[in-house]
Amino acid sequence: MPKKKDFILIGVLLVIALVGLAVTRLLQHQSGASVTITVCGEVYGTYPLNQSREIEISDDKGYNKVVIENGSVHMEDADCPDQYCVQHAAIHSSHETIICLPHELVVEITGGEVSDVDVITQ
Ligand SMILES: [Zn+2]
Repeated sequence: MPKKKDFILIGVLLVIALVGLAVTRLLQHQSGASVTITVCGEVYGTYPLNQSREIEISDDKGYNKVVIENGSVHMEDADCPDQYCVQHAAIHSSHETIICLPHELVVEITGGEVSDVDVITQ
């Protein structure tokens, strides 16, 4: 019964591969996620999502205060006229963004490996 054995082997390998992939993704999501702040199309800074901190950005266009807290990010303060970014709910999942249009500022959550590739291509 060589064929049946082959199918079992392939099945087992497939399960191992899928579990491995799932675990890798999970680990990336939990430990590799970071916050990338872009101002006027230029990366201002990248910060780990799991470390609380306050980032104040002040330039010609205005002032923004981004706060990373308990694994999520929100705009604590800004002097833009519309205040959309301040009213935006906190973000915590990969590829979610908070955009401050008047200041051309983007706060984005990036996954570990994905953000590395982004940095290289930029
Ligand atoms: Zn704003």
